[in-house]
Amino acid sequence: MKRNRKSKILSTLGPSTSNKEIIKNLFISGADIFRLNFSHGSLENHRINYNHIRSVEKEVNRPICVIADLQGPKLRVGEFEKKEINLKKGAEFKFDLINKPGNIDRVYFPYPEVYESLTPNSIVLINDGKIRAQVITQNKDSLIMEIMNNGIISNNKGVNIPDVELPISSLTTKDMTDLGKALDMGVDWIALSFVQTSNDVESLKKIVGDKALIMAKIEKPSAVKNLDAILDVSDGVMIARGDLGVELAPEKIPSIQKNIIRKARETGKPVVVATQMLESMINNPVPTRAESSDVATAIYDGADAVMLSAETAIGKYPVESVSIMNKIIESVENDDKNYSNEIQMQNRHNKSATDAITSAADTISRNAQAAVIVTFSVSGSTTLRLARERCPVRVVGISPSIHVARKLCIVWGVHSCVGDDAQNTREMVSNACTIIKNEGLAKNGDSIVITAGVPFGNAGSTNLLRIAKIIDE
Ligand code: PGA
Ligand code: MN
Repeated sequence: MKRNRKSKILSTLGPSTSNKEIIKNLFISGADIFRLNFSHGSLENHRINYNHIRSVEKEVNRPICVIADLQGPKLRVGEFEKKEINLKKGAEFKFDLINKPGNIDRVYFPYPEVYESLTPNSIVLINDGKIRAQVITQNKDSLIMEIMNNGIISNNKGVNIPDVELPISSLTTKDMTDLGKALDMGVDWIALSFVQTSNDVESLKKIVGDKALIMAKIEKPSAVKNLDAILDVSDGVMIARGDLGVELAPEKIPSIQKNIIRKARETGKPVVVATQMLESMINNPVPTRAESSDVATAIYDGADAVMLSAETAIGKYPVESVSIMNKIIESVENDDKNYSNEIQMQNRHNKSATDAITSAADTISRNAQAAVIVTFSVSGSTTLRLARERCPVRVVGISPSIHVARKLCIVWGVHSCVGDDAQNTREMVSNACTIIKNEGLAKNGDSIVITAGVPFGNAGSTNLLRIAKIIDE
């Protein structure tokens, strides 16, 4: 099964999509990657969904990528005596460490380290930014704030503190438990929420090792500020516009999105644009024009993948959402007047022999009008470097490891396959041709470009480039 597009679709599973039939429909309609969101749902549910995905993977005979998304230190207030509390502009309101139901004057906010790092005038956002408050007095065990606008607060609403780098780890106790379970399941990527610095990613990497790749979610101003260092140590990034859009003014998001995509592309790391892409489809079978343009913009910008969250997790039209996203991407990628694969990269430098080969493979495939470029890559790294070139020609990444093949599903333009590594060049050409013909990616008479490493079978030694023709055997 092949897709008619280069950018990928990530679909979040949830109550609307927790059965095998729907997961299979989501895949067939276009979902390449599934996200298990550990902010919601039980571990047991995630494990069941994981098993559903793997059994769909067998049925459709294509690798499928799974991302476990850890909740991270999402700050939340405690519970209230009443269902809702109406806070009024100008009123004083207190966060404290007293674990008792809140009222119009106060609520439990169990993060002593946060109290210590705020100062008078710090801004605190409650309920996804719907209420803005300013700190008047800061103590070790309480925060007294002035409410800046009328708004409603209720049980467990989220709190964002945008301007301060908080002295908290992005791995909570809950995350540690979830991480252990996710790695036991065998997920391919771990997404880390509320990353502030590259240290957050490095701490996670120490635990994860090479069991999974790490995607840093950029959803705090401090992560935007530390983007270069975070990109250096991450395997990919997600522009998590939900929380980012709360912590930063809405008008800042579009240019930040473009910058993050450009930087990620320069480093050759996959970048995902996420949240509210087809938000109204939670309740409606069609998106708004603005939403369709939002998906399109991410594709014009060159994102590797776009993500559906609530649309597929709790929405009424999960399969329709994926299928519309699929159509929007196809339509943009077919717009040859405006859509160029070669968005200019300002800091584009080739660093290694692999980069020299992948860059040449791109040029040769264009000049030879090749149907596909095949990369034999044990670790997947050559395939990833080639994807950075944004070749107009389809890239077929072949790895002997299903784990590598799954991880690469998220990468722009890569049709990821499992296949034996060759022992010699003749076998290399014949393995490549067999896979391409089986997958329906080219026909007899087509030229293909192949990259590999000799001596065969070693990771990290891409040094061979070859043009071949598909012939009837
Ligand atoms: P979330 O992350 O859905 O886990 O909150 C994405 C975002 O904040 O946009
Ligand atoms: Mn978030």
